[in-house]
Amino acid sequence: MTPRPTLKASEEGRGVTALSIPEGTRSVIETEGLTKVYGVGEVEVTALEAVDLAIAAGEFVAVMGPSGSGKSTLMNLLGCLDRPTGGTYRLDGEDVSRMDKVQLAAIRNRRVGFIFQSYHLLARTTALQNVILPLLYYRDEAQIASERIERARAMLGRVGLDDRLDHQPHQLSGGQQQRVAIARALINDPVLILADEPTGNLDSRSGEEIMSLLHHLHGEGRTIVMVTHNPIIASHTDRTITLQDGRIDTDVRNGARRQTAPMEAKT
Ligand code: ADP
Ligand code: MG
Repeated sequence: MTPRPTLKASEEGRGVTALSIPEGTRSVIETEGLTKVYGVGEVEVTALEAVDLAIAAGEFVAVMGPSGSGKSTLMNLLGCLDRPTGGTYRLDGEDVSRMDKVQLAAIRNRRVGFIFQSYHLLARTTALQNVILPLLYYRDEAQIASERIERARAMLGRVGLDDRLDHQPHQLSGGQQQRVAIARALINDPVLILADEPTGNLDSRSGEEIMSLLHHLHGEGRTIVMVTHNPIIASHTDRTITLQDGRIDTDVRNGARRQTAPMEAKT
């Protein structure tokens, strides 16, 4: 790994570059020069430009930035939903930037849990079946159906939905649907949880429940990257990264904003 400066003021006047992570800490995310250009050959849009980013295991990171700044593009790349047009991305130590679609799908299924603003649950499908779904894509032949059901049931229990196993999405509140989605995100024990505005469609009370669930997962040592437009929600995470025009504009440790080299506080 090439050594990175702890915090470097950008010569182009772009705030600061990405924070480095403490030496000896396992990084779950490591990008170098990560770039995404859409529409190569036609009208090109550089949605992400040379992003260097390291996120350590166990960090809870908020991603902010105005519309069009590249948040979704970054999440898609980090979640192996899409491939970069330049740069490298190591997910939990493995370079995934040159993998083909089939390989990426396998990595995504096993190592990443997604939570979306609009839940993305299968309609007319029970909570239990929705949570089991990721276990079926790359079926572990040794795992029999009853084990899968048990596992999904346990996961729904953990998000407080023991009594809603057979409910379909339309029979659940928004907050409950999001909890099903979280159970589904966790079922394969992912190394990384990506949440794209997980409380964006929820009333404030359900939103708080979902955030407290995410904080609970963080407390268990999960690595979470979450897009949010809410500065208060962001301030409760470990670290806030703000994108601007496809680049990292600021990257700060929350609760250590006044320090110029916040990493020192943690080592
Ligand atoms: P955000 O999520 O921060 O709103 P996006 O990552 O969705 O930003 O978009 C970043 C930029 O890339 C925008 O200028 C957007 O118009 C462009 N963009 C996003 N997706 C595509 C696409 N599939 N094809 C072409 N341009 C895209
Ligand atoms: Mg977006």
